[in-house]
Amino acid sequence: MRTQVAIIGGGPSGLLLGQLLHRAGIDTVVLERRSRDYVLSRIRAGVLETGLVDLMREAGVGERMDREGFIHDGTLIANGDEQFRIDFEKLTGRHVMVYGQTEVTRDLYEARDAAGAVTLHDCRGVKPHDLDTAAPFVTFLREGKVHRLDCDFVAGCDGYHGPCRQEIPTEVRREYEKTYPFGWLGVLSETPPVADELIYANSARGFALCSMRNARLSRYYIQCDLSDSPDDWTDDMFWDELRRRIPAEAAERLETGPSIEKSIAPLRSFVCEPMRWGRLFLCGDAAHIVPPTGAKGLNTAASDVHYLYNALKRFYHDRDDAGLEHYSETALARIWKTERFSWWFSSLMHRYPDQSEFDLAIQQAELAFLRDSEAAQTAMAENYVGLPY
Ligand SMILES: Cc1cc2nc3c(=O)[nH]c(=O)nc-3n(C[C@H](O)[C@H](O)[C@H](O)COP(=O)(O)OP(=O)(O)OC[C@H]3O[C@@H](n4cnc5c(N)ncnc54)[C@H](O)[C@@H]3O)c2cc1C
Repeated sequence: MRTQVAIIGGGPSGLLLGQLLHRAGIDTVVLERRSRDYVLSRIRAGVLETGLVDLMREAGVGERMDREGFIHDGTLIANGDEQFRIDFEKLTGRHVMVYGQTEVTRDLYEARDAAGAVTLHDCRGVKPHDLDTAAPFVTFLREGKVHRLDCDFVAGCDGYHGPCRQEIPTEVRREYEKTYPFGWLGVLSETPPVADELIYANSARGFALCSMRNARLSRYYIQCDLSDSPDDWTDDMFWDELRRRIPAEAAERLETGPSIEKSIAPLRSFVCEPMRWGRLFLCGDAAHIVPPTGAKGLNTAASDVHYLYNALKRFYHDRDDAGLEHYSETALARIWKTERFSWWFSSLMHRYPDQSEFDLAIQQAELAFLRDSEAAQTAMAENYVGLPY
């Protein structure tokens, strides 16, 4: 087989890149390790920045998102029983869109099928070769046979655990990592959301987040110990703990129901530099991870896709490789700012096991500053709706 861009990973990064390239007349093949049902069953992100919303429209897959997604003009920050609002629209003139990652992925798969673009699932042992030459290729095992895909470029969109990042030689690759001493226990339930906007709550018992996917589907999280397992938490235990961490008036309104998904995610900040090596370009979680506070994971993946798509378009349409040459620095400049925001917001909202009285007082002062200062709120809103590409 031959294609122009071999895309490893059929998550949101790989699919969005593939769809944008397809519309620009650039041929791609997506190689995905899992089945489509498995990819579509992963409950993850749900808040889209304007940049990602615009990319979805540019990729020709914005129609259902625009019809079914929810515009959020602001968010609520709770500190114990006190609550204040960050008004994105007033402070930045922009907003975010609530639309689940599963829906984004579904729309992209359907568009790819409709366009007749090739997506191969259940690919095993995917391995890129000759990345430092002008003729790279990828080998993989599928349906009992070894296949070879020749290409001009390889896009490593294979998530944090994928093989592409490891192809960058260790003497060139630099990895930065911070792990947080807690996780998030998340529950999805077929209940109406407790509020029209997200509530990020700092409480003496730890962080909580009230989020949603639509008017009948809510997503709630509580900070938990890293050693916890979802089986340690019955639904009743989860709801009781959530009620204790959010303002009393929200707790009274909370409608509970059986969990239809329950999982624990560890929190991590991670960046790999460079994001390009030879003809390999990393995109999304393959190159960086943020803690989910502030909903930036999927959105940083989208900014990489934006830069790589435009660089490839410039290469194929104008025979100009400047965008590809500078891809890593350009993408990383925005990534680090987003890493900073996610780290800052996580530090502000969680209780740390080793937090001293001083640390706690500083955290409270920072929350008070955010509540009282329009400048601080503007800085937060600007990051939350998404820094410009
Ligand atoms: C539990 C959880 C909750 C999250 N919540 C949020 C949130 O609220 N807000 C937010 O913005 N972000 C959130 N994120 C992060 C967000 O989901 C990711 O940033 C996003 O999925 C990144 O997309 P991606 O395509 O780069 O990577 P992925 O979604 O990880 O996709 C990578 C794909 O590559 C495939 N793959 C891996 N290895 C191989 C291989 N060897 N060969 C072929 N294919 C391979 C994988 O199967 C996968 O389909 C969350 C993540 C998790 C895990």
